[in-house]
Amino acid sequence: MCGIVGYVGPKNVSEVLIGGLERLEYRGYDSAGVALMPHSKEDVLIKRCVGRVSALKDALKSVTGDFAQGIAHTRWATHGVPSEVNAHPHKAGRTFLVHNGIIENYLEIKEELQRQGQEFESQTDTEVFAHLIENIRYKLLAGRDFESLSLPEKISNVLESLKIGTQKVEGHYAILVMVAGLEGHLFGVQAGAPLVAGKLTDSLYIGSDLQALLPHLSDMHFLPAKTIFAGQINHLDFYDFDLKKKEIPMSRIDWSPDKIAKGGFDHFMLKEIFEQPSVVADTLSGRLPTEELGFLWDDLEKHKDLWKNVDRLHFVACGTAYYAALTAKYFFEKWARIPVEVDLASEFRYRNPVFTQNTVVGVVSQSGETADTLAALRLALDEKVKTFAVCNVPGSSISREANVNYQTKAGPEIGVASTKAFSTQLAILSALAQDVARMRGTLVNWQNEAESLARVPLLLEQVLTQSKTYLDMGASLERFKTILVVGRGLMYPISLEGALKIKEISYRHAEGYAAGELKHGPIALIDSSTCAIVLNPKDDVSAKTLSNLQEIKARSGWIIGLGVEKHDAFRKECNEYLALPEADWALSPMLYVVPLQLMAYGLAKQLGCDIDKPRNLAKSVTVE
Ligand code: GLU
Repeated sequence: MCGIVGYVGPKNVSEVLIGGLERLEYRGYDSAGVALMPHSKEDVLIKRCVGRVSALKDALKSVTGDFAQGIAHTRWATHGVPSEVNAHPHKAGRTFLVHNGIIENYLEIKEELQRQGQEFESQTDTEVFAHLIENIRYKLLAGRDFESLSLPEKISNVLESLKIGTQKVEGHYAILVMVAGLEGHLFGVQAGAPLVAGKLTDSLYIGSDLQALLPHLSDMHFLPAKTIFAGQINHLDFYDFDLKKKEIPMSRIDWSPDKIAKGGFDHFMLKEIFEQPSVVADTLSGRLPTEELGFLWDDLEKHKDLWKNVDRLHFVACGTAYYAALTAKYFFEKWARIPVEVDLASEFRYRNPVFTQNTVVGVVSQSGETADTLAALRLALDEKVKTFAVCNVPGSSISREANVNYQTKAGPEIGVASTKAFSTQLAILSALAQDVARMRGTLVNWQNEAESLARVPLLLEQVLTQSKTYLDMGASLERFKTILVVGRGLMYPISLEGALKIKEISYRHAEGYAAGELKHGPIALIDSSTCAIVLNPKDDVSAKTLSNLQEIKARSGWIIGLGVEKHDAFRKECNEYLALPEADWALSPMLYVVPLQLMAYGLAKQLGCDIDKPRNLAKSVTVE
């Protein structure tokens, strides 16, 4: 799930590439590299460094030259340790290649090439791909000199090699290829990992995510899977895997580039936490019912058709999005009275799930490119099951392929630990559950619920006024070895999400648990080095949560309570207490997750962790 950038044009090539990599660094940061093609016939220059893009940027300061184009990569290692020799781009003869994803049969191909005398310098699957293409391309020349070919012949030589290469290779991936002696041209393959391409009259831009392209252009092509492309300045040709030309529509992205900058915050994560009131408002805006109109979705006809006769809902997602889906189960079951199952995408795919004739499968994903979620969606589509997506990135694979897409409007989320995307997922899933319940006639007072939902942005603002308290409380968690986050009902998925945030960015041991489940095992963890964050809005399971709190207390656990201002029975049992605004049942997930996000941030900062780029993680997981 690396970041890929390619550029051809008049600007300073290494600056464009490094800028793109910096914006994509959330996708991987084990190593970074570039291949730069000079205008003259001199050799292509490769620079690769272990670690962050900043190291590559420094290394490039000593590089002078007039470059026509280049390709660049920030890696999230799957095959071979992070090292300079394993860093991309990989070179094989004239072929320079960067790659996102995994070549599953790389060993087989490597052994075949080795039998033909090919030597390899890295442990990566990527280098094998580069040699495979070069080998095919060379054989296709049938003894002719590449330089002596006409331009169309050169292009077709490369395209044919990509076509044959992709037939031999198994896996989900994307590659970007530059060929020495073919100035002004870039080639690539989208085989299950994202690629975005755009052009201007004097330049060509390629990226594995729209962030790479955003400051330069707003009209882009999101390549669907099984696409080969050949690009040059102001011209892009797209082909299927048989090299039959195809059209790919252009999407207009109106995210302003300054949204991508940190806007005065120390970290993107903190900025994104503070954006939650406005992005939740954006997500709900124009969709909640007014007096004259019902809920408004982008494609109302498709929406109505999707939910007609539904008798079962099956959510599939990964990570934070999975917890959003788990929360939505409570909304849909309570309001719409539809049985709901929630699955981890990586499990769902391989366990032969059972669908009824009127099952609807809903997938939730920030990036819209999460490999396991995308595969789960495709599995459902293959089974002819009706599907929908809750997705943040317009034009992404998941948003395009699902029958109906409900777009969240979180804007670009750069911090690896998801925050604002989660809140917008909760907001839209809540509105959706209300509308489905309205259509089924199972929620009489749906207008009241919708009105209540419209108040969330305001309540979020209110919660954020206490941010310093939450950040300080987070920093104080440093003294605990284990942090438990517990709650019941809607607070159960939120406790899972809170513990995930702590794990992801502070690396401190944290577990989320259903409060009633503690006594069935995890209670053994509790001693005086344990802190339990108890989530307990004054709801109908509140008294039960209080009993579970006593169980923790009796074993010397330190208790931080999160509840409403006026709840003395709860407050007096806690060692520390954080008060949140009173709110209706369905709003509490969106409100209670915010202090947890801030506490995780405060702890990670106290521990000196790299908050926006936690170790071993990448933002959109486009490998299985
Ligand atoms: N499999 C390749 C490698 O390990 C690419 C991984 C990535 O997507 O960054 O280098």
